[in-house]
Amino acid sequence: MTQQRSRTEPRGTGETLVEVEGLKKYYGGDGVFADPPVKAVDGVSFQIQRGETLGLVGESGCGKTTLGRTLVQLETATEGTVEFDGTDVTELTGKRLKQWRRNAQIVFQDPESSLNDRMTIGEIVREPLDVHEEGTPAERREKVKDLLAQVGLQPEHYYRYPHQFSGGQRQRIGIARALALEPEFVVLDEPVSALDTSVQAKILNLLEDLQDEFDLTYLFIAHDLSVVRHICDRVAVMYLGKIMEIGATEELYTDPANPYTHSLLSAIPEPDPTVQKERITLPGTPPSPRDPPTGCQLTTRCPAKIHPEEYDHVDTGTWNDIERFREVIRERSRIDLSVRDRIRRSLGAFHRFDDIDETVADMFGDDVPDEIRDHVDRAAEYVKEGYPDRAREYMSEQFDGVCDTERPELYPVGETDRLSYCHRHSGEYESVDSVLGRGSDGE
Ligand code: SF4
Repeated sequence: MTQQRSRTEPRGTGETLVEVEGLKKYYGGDGVFADPPVKAVDGVSFQIQRGETLGLVGESGCGKTTLGRTLVQLETATEGTVEFDGTDVTELTGKRLKQWRRNAQIVFQDPESSLNDRMTIGEIVREPLDVHEEGTPAERREKVKDLLAQVGLQPEHYYRYPHQFSGGQRQRIGIARALALEPEFVVLDEPVSALDTSVQAKILNLLEDLQDEFDLTYLFIAHDLSVVRHICDRVAVMYLGKIMEIGATEELYTDPANPYTHSLLSAIPEPDPTVQKERITLPGTPPSPRDPPTGCQLTTRCPAKIHPEEYDHVDTGTWNDIERFREVIRERSRIDLSVRDRIRRSLGAFHRFDDIDETVADMFGDDVPDEIRDHVDRAAEYVKEGYPDRAREYMSEQFDGVCDTERPELYPVGETDRLSYCHRHSGEYESVDSVLGRGSDGE
């Protein structure tokens, strides 16, 4: 089995190749009666150095693929800029956009479906060269054969079809196609996650060799944190459309700063079974990207959330129950009531949400402090009357802290240029590590 080589020296020339500022990508939300937009990417800013590999990690649905596709202009940004070598590519159209596209390519996740089964390998890899009318047909053919050799395939594969190849070979074809126009920047969207472990290592080694040979800059999107650690110089951690932490790979892995990074890293299985590792499990599920929190994106699940001082005595378990209850109310407030339901509500005969009492009984034990219980009961009454919006507002008034109401900044942490999106780095609050019971976080 081929071993994935570990990166020893950070790459990156120190020169910025890609500079992203306040980038947003929303879907839908147009029109007076439309639902709110899906905020897939919700205001991210970062740079990628020429020659480096920046990892982009996060749970599925966090917006990482959308971000990658927006960087290479396969999606149109809703707001913000993407400067590539000093040019804002979100402003490019027509010929200038086509010309620029040569510089930025993407390798897709699934080698089974990303190649057109009706085209030969030669035609697939050659297509970008044909579109851009590069050289003569004979020169294009030669170039494709060279590319096939560079990714470890044979010239005779030119005339075969994708279904005749294994998953790893198909990914090699996808890589050859992405490199045909000699781009400077390549987005690798989960390039190995559909492959067996032994094949993964070979493809990762190939990507590193090609990076050296062609001076490539990579954005490496992945959910597998172990893979990212091996191949990336820096890592950006994403949650619900926002970058929670970004910094040098080893520093971020050995000394995470953001509560979300702590939780992700704690889920990586420990190779040595004798080493005990405490897992930080995030309760609940991520909120809908149509209705993200007003404050920090992680506020509904954060194990280090800052609560109002008057509730200092309330324990973590109760806070988790409160958050889950708020989640239930939030979901109810998103349900459209029928005309009949509204009439019943105005007559005081609305019963559709009566099961909320059972939910409360199920979620909250008997030892909940009285003042919490009173607020929960009041909110449950609003829900039963058919006004979950009021319940939501009421719970906000009682329990919102700074994490619910204010978006944090990206604060510098540690010795290098690492940044973390959390109020706890402002110096006003107890540190993340002391709240999570970890060692010093270097702040
Ligand atoms: S700002 Fe608050 S909710 Fe967000 S990560 Fe920091 S402590 Fe958690």
